[in-house]
Amino acid sequence: MPRRAPLPTLMAGIGAGLLALAPAGIAVAAPVDPTAFADTVTVDAVAEHLERLQTIAAANGGNRAVGTPGYEAGAAYIESVLTEAGYTPERQYFEVTQQTIDSHNLAIDGVDVDPEEIPLSYTPSTDPATGVTAGVVVPGAALGCDAAAWNGVDATGKIAVVSRGECSFAEKNLAAAAAGAVGIVIYNNTSGDLNGTLGEPDEDFIAGVGVQQAQGQAILDALVANPALQATLQIDQTTEQEQTFNIVAETSSGTADNVVMLGAHLDSVPEGPGINDNGSGSAAILETAVQLAQSGDLNNKVRFAWWGAEEIGLLGSAHYVDDLVANDPAELDRIATYLNFDMVASPNYVISVYDADQSTFEAPVEVPEGSVQTEDVFTDYFDSIGQPYVDTEFDGRSDYEAFILNGIPASGLFTGADGEKTAEEVALFGGEEGEQYDPNYHTPEDVLENVNEEGLGIMLRAIAFATASLANDTSAINGYGAAQPETPVAPGTTPAGQLAATGADATPFLASAGLLMIAGAAAVVLARRRVLADARLED
Ligand SMILES: [Zn+2]
Repeated sequence: MPRRAPLPTLMAGIGAGLLALAPAGIAVAAPVDPTAFADTVTVDAVAEHLERLQTIAAANGGNRAVGTPGYEAGAAYIESVLTEAGYTPERQYFEVTQQTIDSHNLAIDGVDVDPEEIPLSYTPSTDPATGVTAGVVVPGAALGCDAAAWNGVDATGKIAVVSRGECSFAEKNLAAAAAGAVGIVIYNNTSGDLNGTLGEPDEDFIAGVGVQQAQGQAILDALVANPALQATLQIDQTTEQEQTFNIVAETSSGTADNVVMLGAHLDSVPEGPGINDNGSGSAAILETAVQLAQSGDLNNKVRFAWWGAEEIGLLGSAHYVDDLVANDPAELDRIATYLNFDMVASPNYVISVYDADQSTFEAPVEVPEGSVQTEDVFTDYFDSIGQPYVDTEFDGRSDYEAFILNGIPASGLFTGADGEKTAEEVALFGGEEGEQYDPNYHTPEDVLENVNEEGLGIMLRAIAFATASLANDTSAINGYGAAQPETPVAPGTTPAGQLAATGADATPFLASAGLLMIAGAAAVVLARRRVLADARLED
């Protein structure tokens, strides 16, 4: 469906003042003063929420990861605060796939490959104990993408060795399986590990691993020297479906026709309590919700979401948006803009804004109309108080991805993760040059004692200011509630500067499910989509 269709009232283009737009029977609210509201969302209150989240993690295995008691207890705390503040929070459940790799091995003529192979996400098991030992076979066309590549090659009962390139690992796997192979080794076509995913489970897959390019070449050389070369591949894994959930709550006040949405992921990684990542964003929007409920009538409804399963592939936000695309696209259209907050209290912080206008970084994604104006709300605020800020790439590497893929404008704030602070940033914000923005990123040390309250305070005021100002008016973003134009505009035309452009077709979502791989008992490999920094490769 086409995105960002102009609202019928505005299409008429006549007398589209605020009063005319208010649904019948609902009085137009007095605006909330954004500057005054910014004072109400305090570091003290947010630190109290963070302390509770930390206590909850400590009492529940040290984290708030998907599928754990810590996630459930953390969510219950968020819900209790919301309920106390007068909201009716709702859980939106969805399924995630979790894969545990208990053991794996690849040996060529009895010698283990070194460095170790990496099982492809969603690989099935071999015989879990003994694995499979078989001859080695290569396709007629080295890339092994389809049946033709295996024409005239007897792969039955053998282990296929295939180069990365041209098609997805899943396609290579299925083509080798169809040719009769019982296992597949995919070697890199560039330097480095091949840390790949098959995308989603498929009962036709054969067991598969990735190895480095040099290892693949060594196997091919050995095969030339010895056509009877034997490989042993062993993978023992379990794959389980389980349920997790998002929490969604919205103001009772404000028109439901024009919704401002704020989101933060609530889940942590299994390695730690996730107080900066992303207790900070979660607590920030929680306190914003609490204070907004006491701020009188709003023009636009404000909806808050605490996303589940972000750390294993942005799954909660993807589910929320995909569900609207499939079942209620009109409701998706009513979201004026989406604000994302994922880490806003980094110890060695920068004050950064998602660079929707691409003034610093060319975005590797389509930037929906209205995103630049959403970014402006933050940057204009910082400019107005003389607060320096920098841009962070508008790359979809957090929960705004699903929104922007479907044409919803977005922006957000970020204090930095595993990148290193530059001299220029130290000049603007202080801190340590050459050190990570958050040295505790995804570790057990991501605790309250390590968050930076100064950076957090700056971000809280910006979040609160933006929320109040957009609750008043999103006309710069989507034309909703725009004042009557001086020159009447003919029906069917777009008043310049007032309506976001229409057009961008809904983009199908990249992948439907994510995967948590646990190698051995403890170490966890993230399996995000390939757009993410630490993504597993799909091809
Ligand atoms: Zn995060």
